Parts: sequence; C-alpha cells; structure tokens
Amino acid sequence: MRIILLGPPGAGKGTQAVMLSEHLKVAHISTGDILREELKKDSSLAKKARRFVESGGLVPDDIIIEVIKERISGLNDFLLDGFPRTIRQAQALDEALVNSRPIDLAIYLDASTPTIIQRLSGRRICSKCGANYHIKNMPPKAVGFCDKCGSILYQRPDDSEAPIKNRLAVYLKETASLIDYYQKQNKLLRISSDPDAGEVFKELIQALNSKVLK
Ligand code: AMP
Repeated sequence: MRIILLGPPGAGKGTQAVMLSEHLKVAHISTGDILREELKKDSSLAKKARRFVESGGLVPDDIIIEVIKERISGLNDFLLDGFPRTIRQAQALDEALVNSRPIDLAIYLDASTPTIIQRLSGRRICSKCGANYHIKNMPPKAVGFCDKCGSILYQRPDDSEAPIKNRLAVYLKETASLIDYYQKQNKLLRISSDPDAGEVFKELIQALNSKVLK
C-alpha cells in the first residue's frame, strides 16, 4: 500500500508510522528523520534546510519535493510520515505517481491541543537511531538512554516553546488543508490520537481493515 500519515505535530505520527510500517511491511519514510540526519552531517541539504527546521518553519517545497521523489523512486509500497505538508507538495506527489500507482490512503491522526503540548514537551529522541520516547507516556527502560541501541536521548531543539508555537501555526496555515484535499479524493481515514499509542494503533488497524475490505 501507499499511505500518507497526516496530523499536527505531536499527534503521534512517528510512533504510529514505525508500528504500521512494521505491521504492513512497507518502507517508512519520514522527512523529519531525513532532515535531522542531514543536519547531523551538515550536508549541502542541511545548509539549505537548517534555519527552517530549527525555527519550526517549513523547508521550501522545491527542496523537500526533490528529497521525497528520490526516496520513493523504485518503491512499490511506502508509508510517508511528515510529507506532504502543503497542497503544493501533495500535488507534486500525485504528479510523481501518475505513471505508477496513486496514494491509497491518507490517515489523519487528530489530537487535541493539550495532548499535543504534553506530547511534544515530554518527547525524547535517540541521538543515534532516532527512536522516539516520552518521559511519561513511553519512558525508556534506563532514564536518558535508548532501549534499542543504548545511545543518549535528547530533546529536539524544535520541541521547545517558541518553535512548538510556530509549528502549530504552520500546521494550521499550511497543512490542515490537506485533510480536505484527501477527503475530496475519498482517501481520508480519521483516527483520534488522544488515547495512548497502543490503543490508537489497534483502532488504526481495525479501521484500515474495514476500509480496505470495503
Ligand atoms: P517532523 O519530524 O515531521 O516534525 O519535522 C521536523 C521539521 O522538519 C519540520 O518542523 C520542518 O521544519 C521540516 N520538515 C519535515 N517535513 C517537511 C515537509 N514535508 N515540508 C517542509 N518541511 C518539512
């Protein structure tokens, strides 16, 4: 399947994407993870993208569209997490798939503002493998260290107050309209992501099965 995960920052896209891509055995492509890796390497992409990522703004469409086209080329199935984020990105994706298969489904993880703030402020990321944790909701076994690879966890610089505010504003201005875009294509599946990750995942699988079998 070719799936998109939509939703505000803090809705749990990354966590659900990891579980869902393992369940469906499809490639998980996260533009946020790709950009963070590039920033670590200080690559030429990082030089163009850093100020946007660190301030919680959006990396310009042309740059991120090229990144995603390259990543999906040759893949039969994929799960996109964090892309598209603008109508222009969504249109570019549709165009890029015109000679193969279109997107099957856009899953919209809907979370309330208090949930978003609580999740983002407690989120911790592995400095090596990028695994996600939360100090309360999904704590690692040893405080401050990744269960998977043992590396140190850190707080994303854009999970602090000013960038969070900016990311939420950007989401409402640029990304929320994608809900309508995929609704019109009859591809939208809305799931409330306020419950804990395990419950959301169960709900997601049930909804997915009934939608796909319909
Ligand atoms: P995320 O991990 O999805 O929250 O993404 C972290 C940051 O990477 C965002 O706040 C943006 O600065 C940048 N980013 C990720 N995906 C995109 C995208 N599709 N378009 C533009 N910027 C993006």
